[in-house]
Amino acid sequence: MKDETKLVVAGRSPEDNFGIVNAPVYHASTVLYSTLDELQQRHKERSEGKQVVTYGRMGTPTTWSLENAVAEIEGGYRCQIFPSGLAACAHAIQAFVGAGDHVLVTDSVYGPTRAYCDNVLKRFGVETTYYDPLIGSGISELIKSNTKVVFVESPGSQTFEMQDIPAIADAAHKAGAVVIMDNTWASPLYYKPFEHGVDVSVQAGTKYIVGHSDVMMGTITATKEHWPAIQACANLAGQTAGPDDVYLAQRGLRTLSVRLKQHMENGLKVAEWLKGRPEVHSVLHPAMEHHPGHDLWKRDFLGASGLFSIQLKALERPALAAFMDNLELFGMGYSWGGYESLIIYADPSSYRTATKWDNTNPLIRLHIGLESPDDLIADLEAGFKRMNAIK
Ligand SMILES: *Cc1c(COP(=O)(O)O)cnc(C)c1O
Repeated sequence: MKDETKLVVAGRSPEDNFGIVNAPVYHASTVLYSTLDELQQRHKERSEGKQVVTYGRMGTPTTWSLENAVAEIEGGYRCQIFPSGLAACAHAIQAFVGAGDHVLVTDSVYGPTRAYCDNVLKRFGVETTYYDPLIGSGISELIKSNTKVVFVESPGSQTFEMQDIPAIADAAHKAGAVVIMDNTWASPLYYKPFEHGVDVSVQAGTKYIVGHSDVMMGTITATKEHWPAIQACANLAGQTAGPDDVYLAQRGLRTLSVRLKQHMENGLKVAEWLKGRPEVHSVLHPAMEHHPGHDLWKRDFLGASGLFSIQLKALERPALAAFMDNLELFGMGYSWGGYESLIIYADPSSYRTATKWDNTNPLIRLHIGLESPDDLIADLEAGFKRMNAIK
């Protein structure tokens, strides 16, 4: 089956639910058993990896509808949901490390994942080394005997460097390290991590899976070999998500292919227009030919999402504010992946440690939503007018 079809059918079982199309929302904590035999039998089956109901926290048919669909589309063995994308990033790492271990994390990683490493991992005696996202197979020189995890994110949060994931995975595997990828940008649809050497893939489901800016959700999908560590970590740490949110996430997933196609098309149209503007220093969009990571994107990815950054030519803060304030269609706010367009300022030079980022040309991240790109362009054009009036 093609991905578009999988998105429609995966994880659904109307035949188990009176023919009703979508998975029911099971609100559950206590689960009742009629006999001691049944209680012990179900727990035994669950310990063997079967999807049986034992207690609310351990999953219900609502949970599995999302987990099974994500696992199938991303191409992994099984999936575990988490209450946020960050919880998924944190537990993916936590599942494979202990005191005295070392992890390698890309310098372009999502900021809160970095904060988790610097604060929590450090307190538990796990050392983090950040590496140049463009390092490729050179990562082998940074791998130590206690390196348990190599964490990749491509393209990088805010800065959009493309990583050579197969090369990095190859070096990591030679040293026995687990490769974890934050695959949020491409979603399970436009990058197939397990075909490129990734062992564990994280999604901030909050973004394109949910797709409507109204739910926090995270997923971890793993290979068969790495699945038991993920499931154990989630269960031991009590990770679960509420059924209404899980329901909304599986509902959003069904339309991912049409939404993403439009985000990509609109995003490229706006990005091309921005590239021709005199106010713009550079456009950081891996699906555009001039991008230094374009060849990697073309080699490994099946599409692009609607998220990219631009660097404006150096300007004073009032001019920057005049551009960003009062946009009509671009909301100013964090997160992304909903149907609406967003704009946010970021300064990567403030957090990079392995590489230097020059912020002379201020970085603005854009999420291009499902509005008409012509209207979005007109909105940005009016912003540039306000900006130029102040300069
Ligand atoms: C948003 C985001 C996360 C975190 O997801 P939340 O659901 O907001 O916790 C992780 N990684 C990337 C790349 C993200 O953009």
